[in-house]
Amino acid sequence: MIVDTHCHAYWEGLGDREAEVRANMLAAGVARSVQIGADLDSSRMALALADRWGDGTWCTVGVHPTDCQDLAAETAGAVVRELESLASSRRDKVVGIGETGLDYYHLTKGAEGAQKETQRVFFAAQAALAQKLGMPLVVHTRDAAEDTAALIKGSGVRRAVIHCFSQDIRFARELQDWSDGVYFSFSGVLTYKSAAAVQEVARALPLDRILVETDAPFLVPQAVRGTASVNEPAFTRHVIDFLKALRPEPPETVESAVWENSHRFFGLPLPR
Ligand SMILES: [Zn+2]
Repeated sequence: MIVDTHCHAYWEGLGDREAEVRANMLAAGVARSVQIGADLDSSRMALALADRWGDGTWCTVGVHPTDCQDLAAETAGAVVRELESLASSRRDKVVGIGETGLDYYHLTKGAEGAQKETQRVFFAAQAALAQKLGMPLVVHTRDAAEDTAALIKGSGVRRAVIHCFSQDIRFARELQDWSDGVYFSFSGVLTYKSAAAVQEVARALPLDRILVETDAPFLVPQAVRGTASVNEPAFTRHVIDFLKALRPEPPETVESAVWENSHRFFGLPLPR
């Protein structure tokens, strides 16, 4: 049994064929999912989907770095207060804050400095909210490993997941040592031919710190790249199968450990 710990099944390409996406998931053994918010609107959509799908579906609320970089940094407080009221009024469904983080890949030429600063302000505010509510933080990072590690440590956050892990072993070790509440989530990127460094990390980390995800509708895993144009939660199956082949433990041990990790990290109730 599998949890897709990070997807956006409410977005175009998936949200418009929701019943089919849900049926595909369940048929693939992906029994549970965490729907991730990327701004205020999509956080509300993630919560609405968690309500529609009922048991086995949860969500997070947050603002992605690329989605906040053109806002005024002074608006962070008001935006995060909105996130707080969503999260604290729906603790039955909202299980984390994010995705937040730093993305230096999608900056606008000429505005880099201001955009980085705005991303940092929103990141720090969401990290503080996660700590206030006792919730884990979902972190996106691209071309910003050093600043991301510094921000996590500076914020004092101890429970965080580096989602769609695509950094190197040094970054992983630094955060692994920072807190045993930092987890690492692998997506379809793990399965790409160009991902030797990411595969090395997935092999080297302690098994009890690993999660899997799709980040659907993005990042179709290698096994279905030729046939699927849109990623979907069912394809978490391909990510975990790839992970099982990489790891030294028996395959069934890997799958059950990752299942338990997902529940422990997000504080999800295990099925009766
Ligand atoms: Zn995402």
